[in-house]
Amino acid sequence: MSRIKGSNTAPEKLVRSLLHWWGYRFRIHRKDLPGKPDVVLPIHRKIIFVNGCFWHGHAACKKGVTRPVTNARFWANKISGNVGRDRVNRNALRRSGWKVLTVWECETKRPDRLVSKLLRFLQE
Ligand SMILES: [Zn+2]
Repeated sequence: MSRIKGSNTAPEKLVRSLLHWWGYRFRIHRKDLPGKPDVVLPIHRKIIFVNGCFWHGHAACKKGVTRPVTNARFWANKISGNVGRDRVNRNALRRSGWKVLTVWECETKRPDRLVSKLLRFLQE
């Protein structure tokens, strides 16, 4: 499994193709913003992170709370570091006036829910 940030994962591609389909203009992986957000909608001042459940420690799903048995401490530190960094980045973005949405990998496997989550965020 490659590092999630900066890689064009299937969940990212799905989110991007929905946005494209709906006619939203966006940029991807903007290096000049905290956390290098996966999707940036500059006109709407909105940002979408598409997070892998394992790497970003999704607390609400099995994949997000399961850790490898070997090197348990390493993984615990690694993932809690990612979770902390994600929080810091989201806060920094919100302070600068961005609206931030996190889409989890597991959510992209339920297209109907994904669609309503994205539309709610985009239309708010
Ligand atoms: Zn998840």
